[in-house]
Amino acid sequence: MSVKQLVVLGGGESGVGAALLAQAKGFSVFLSDKGALKESYRTTLEKAGIPFEEGTHTEARILAADEVIKSPGIPEKAPLVQQLRAQKTPVISEIEFAARYTKAKLIGITGSNGKTTTTLLIYHLLKTAGLNVGLAGNVGDSFAEQVIADTFDYYVLELSSFQLDDMYDVHLDVMLLLNITPDHLDRYAYNFQNYIDSKFRILQNACPDDTFIYFAESQPIQEELTKRSTVANRLPVSLQSPVTPGGYVQNGQLIAQTTTHSFTLTQADTPLRGPHNAINMLSAILVAQTLDVTNEAIIAGLKSFQNAAHRLEPAGTIDEIQFINDSKATNVDSVFYALSSMETPTIWIAGGQDKGNDYSQLDDVVRQKVKALICLGIDNHKLVEHFGSKIPLIFETQQVEEAVAKGLEWGESGDVVLLSPACASFDLFKNYEDRGNQFKEAVRKLMMNYE
Ligand code: ADP
Repeated sequence: MSVKQLVVLGGGESGVGAALLAQAKGFSVFLSDKGALKESYRTTLEKAGIPFEEGTHTEARILAADEVIKSPGIPEKAPLVQQLRAQKTPVISEIEFAARYTKAKLIGITGSNGKTTTTLLIYHLLKTAGLNVGLAGNVGDSFAEQVIADTFDYYVLELSSFQLDDMYDVHLDVMLLLNITPDHLDRYAYNFQNYIDSKFRILQNACPDDTFIYFAESQPIQEELTKRSTVANRLPVSLQSPVTPGGYVQNGQLIAQTTTHSFTLTQADTPLRGPHNAINMLSAILVAQTLDVTNEAIIAGLKSFQNAAHRLEPAGTIDEIQFINDSKATNVDSVFYALSSMETPTIWIAGGQDKGNDYSQLDDVVRQKVKALICLGIDNHKLVEHFGSKIPLIFETQQVEEAVAKGLEWGESGDVVLLSPACASFDLFKNYEDRGNQFKEAVRKLMMNYE
């Protein structure tokens, strides 16, 4: 029998990992990337003796593949992908490919917001409890590469809708759907239902012993669940009312109950603040309970958790004015939760590249919390038009240092200066990390002047 020919499209973390796994499993593999590879990935491929190309896609070679593993960054409408589909060549994601070669239990996390935070938290809780667990998907090292040695009993996988789109047979033991709000619609023919369907692919292979955890007050999730059934055990999370079994908040306490476990902890005793983080923590606690983690281990994990940077990250305090970096808040929904988390008057830094934002969702929370708005973007007209009559103080700048200095000038003891942009960063910065880092650096410099 001839050796199966695999082609990997896209040479990032997931593509290079998939190529290594394919080689380890005895396939003939070729990697093709239309752009330039990172130096470290090029070296890895060269060392492994895996053939690859950069700066081009050689169609004849790609179209001759038996199966193609596609990077989530390559859109379905790319002509090459369309050609592959037309000739019925299977096109799958790295997750789909890697899952074939592991016996570990899989925990999949998706949602429009909160994926990384909750994935890292679940990983941390399980690790703290002593479980033999790996971290993969959109965060950490390639799933496929980890599956070569396959030493873990569990993998916690952050799944974007793009990854879910090319997943077909992967069986997830625990599925978590945090929320669905319009995002990435350019990849879904500007049809929200297509995006909802993509998120619900997380449930596609659910079995009766599996667990499905979801935020019950996300309207699209609620509506969709009236149309679809699932055989998995459902564990809802609610901010508004007690749900048992499930997770909810009552008088500042996080309460999570399954048929066999019961957990209570005051949110103020954890490092994560805000209603969105209550959802994230309750979801993570329910996952841990499903895997029989003890309450002591869950509490230890929650208390010692450190979130990734740029998510409501404390950036420093000057004159009792606290600066917070929430640069990862690139859409309106995440800003809603960031502002809801603020407990003192807030000077809000927002702006950047607009994604078709509708700011009216923020009106109430802005009225309650925001005393001034600093627009940090090249084109701020939408923000200024929407909030001009609603916020007494508005300032526009394209300099992060100026934004931070203005925050300090307008701030009074006890106030917060919050960078939570609601927009993409590409007008003034390389990416959201660059924006957050420049913000933190500007705060650090100001702090030095104050010492
Ligand atoms: P993702 O990986 O889905 O982009 P992150 O954990 O990186 O999510 O968080 C992105 C932004 O969304 C952060 O600014 C954070 O404050 C906000 N956020 C986190 N969790 C939630 C949630 N459950 N619902 C809404 N917004 C959230």
